[in-house]
Amino acid sequence: MLGELSRKQIEDLLLTNIVGRIGCHAFGRTYVVPVTYMYDAGVVYGHGRLGMKFHMMRANPHVCFEVDMMDGFADWQSVIAWGVFSELHGDTAVQALDLLTRGFESRVAGPPGETVHPSRNVEPSIVYHIELQEKTGRYERRV
Ligand SMILES: Cc1cc2nc3c(=O)[nH]c(=O)nc-3n(C[C@H](O)[C@H](O)[C@H](O)COP(=O)(O)OP(=O)(O)OC[C@H]3O[C@@H](n4cnc5c(N)ncnc54)[C@H](O)[C@@H]3O)c2cc1C
Repeated sequence: MLGELSRKQIEDLLLTNIVGRIGCHAFGRTYVVPVTYMYDAGVVYGHGRLGMKFHMMRANPHVCFEVDMMDGFADWQSVIAWGVFSELHGDTAVQALDLLTRGFESRVAGPPGETVHPSRNVEPSIVYHIELQEKTGRYERRV
């Protein structure tokens, strides 16, 4: 059975996932790139090193964001959203990194005692958010 996710199901899927795909378009190219993220109150938070995705999102901050989960070929949920990218600095960047660190620590199991810091392997880090403006959700469930 195919259907549309409710608003709550859309929020739940965004909250429980930690990997999403950013779709951006600039310089005549479209680019879809996987990233880890945290979601809070309509906003996607992430970080990363300067590269193609940031060059493109700086040129055109209007992006698409997708997450999905699949339990079987006929059992999945996905959310597609549109929003606006912006970089964070100062206190807002610190708060976003804190949200990312706490979120990853609670979801990703590492060796005992290891601290999961989102910037660990990607210095220097750009911290950003995507304010989602429109969201749609679909599902398929085996009946
Ligand atoms: C599950 C997962 C989680 C990730 N989380 C993050 C994150 O939180 N932050 C983050 O910055 N990055 C994350 N990455 C890595 C991310 O997908 C990019 O590889 C990385 O950010 C570099 O992207 P860029 O646009 O700066 O590429 P650049 O280093 O500028 O390189 C661009 C070139 O590399 C190719 N390329 C880049 N990334 C990929 C890729 N993933 N697969 C195939 N080809 C690629 C492009 O097609 C292009 O040709 C994650 C990847 C995965 C799979």
